[in-house]
Amino acid sequence: MECVKQRQKPQEDGKKGRLEEQYGQFGISREVFSFGREILSSLEERFEQIDETAEYNQLKVIQAMQECRVGEACLYGTTGYGYNDLGRDTLEEVYARVFHTQDALVRPQITCGTHALALALMSNLRPGDELLSPAGKPYDTLEEVIGIRESKGSLKEYGISYRQVDLLADGTFDYDSIREAIHDKTKVVTIQRSKGYQTRPTFSVTQIGELIAFVKQIKPDVICMVDNCYGEFVETIEPGDVGADMTVGSLIKNPGGGLAPIGGYIAGRKECVENAAYRLTSPGLGKEVGASLGVMSSFYQGLFLAPTVTAGALKGAVFAANIYEKIGFPVIPNSYESRHDIIQAVTFGKPEGVIAFCQGIQAAAPVDSYVTPQPWDMPGYDSKVIMAAGAFVSGSSIELSADGPIAPPYAVYFQGGLTWQHAKLGILKSLQNLIDQGIVSADFHRI
Ligand SMILES: *Cc1c(COP(=O)(O)O)cnc(C)c1O
Repeated sequence: MECVKQRQKPQEDGKKGRLEEQYGQFGISREVFSFGREILSSLEERFEQIDETAEYNQLKVIQAMQECRVGEACLYGTTGYGYNDLGRDTLEEVYARVFHTQDALVRPQITCGTHALALALMSNLRPGDELLSPAGKPYDTLEEVIGIRESKGSLKEYGISYRQVDLLADGTFDYDSIREAIHDKTKVVTIQRSKGYQTRPTFSVTQIGELIAFVKQIKPDVICMVDNCYGEFVETIEPGDVGADMTVGSLIKNPGGGLAPIGGYIAGRKECVENAAYRLTSPGLGKEVGASLGVMSSFYQGLFLAPTVTAGALKGAVFAANIYEKIGFPVIPNSYESRHDIIQAVTFGKPEGVIAFCQGIQAAAPVDSYVTPQPWDMPGYDSKVIMAAGAFVSGSSIELSADGPIAPPYAVYFQGGLTWQHAKLGILKSLQNLIDQGIVSADFHRI
């Protein structure tokens, strides 16, 4: 035994040296590499927990695929109307099983997360109804869907009113005000799991379950929709497990596993999903049409990979939180708290920090590494935004990506990484960039 150990040690050191050299090829200094190593050595237990969740969810996905008898024929697509599309119909069953819901709509015709959410809302609300957000301001792009910001085709234009109850100062639900806000017209309640572009905490599935139970106790027939973007497979339960009537998300985030080239899903109660299907296609047609073309195998394979891809992204987020907290920047979530989505917010307090960070992420990308992202007026957002994304699927944010509105408090929102190794490279590169630009000192302190 002794002998074996002694022989292994120099080999390990050699490996470390070669790894350091590889990072050097990316402009990452020996000091930054070692700083990363030091931070990593404290994260073993966290990473084990993340792997355990991934293992559980991996089995959950395989079990669903087996129970639905996914076969080779499911991987082929249809064209034209897409009647009797076996792959599409079976995949929707698989999603319903994974999310523990009665039914699901999983389509390439749902263009993105905003579209999936808009579809779920518009199909289940009617003129005169009211939508309630009991957990504060929804995601930026939903402001135009709802009509908080004037927009053509908004819910408001169709006579659907909106009410919002903000979170309490400590980030918890304001139950008293929520009780007062629910009345006859309240038809749908929208709850966003992830923080999105805010610095509030992300809600756990259990917390969401408590809120749903409270709402249903006041008005049992209200439809509770959860915006599940970035939350899928982070925990072993999903919103459908705690009473959500609709769970909604994007396939170019977690559940697409990086392979889905487009798409969105709505998993939920049969009636809610049916309404969404009639809105997506046409009254009378519903789920029966919608050719899957050639994307089915990427939807299946992506879902299969999603639990482990999500785990890689989570490791990156935890690593980044620990690095930047140590340096002295506020991070949400902090270095040790439990995770309910894959987003990591780091507040730099000045635009230069946000820009340097995003440019570092871009420089680590496998695609478009040679471009330098700049802040721009992105449709749907009300301030300039900088986005770093060197992705195989354009705009995919399960791939390593970062974005930040150029507005106080100058926070960057970082997420994704198809592999943990890539996420690590991106984070070290962003740190190197901040040091090179004089925003972080050479001894790893905020300047
Ligand atoms: C990404 C996201 C959306 C919108 O999804 P898009 O695909 O960008 O349209 C909505 N809500 C949350 C919380 C998100 O993270």
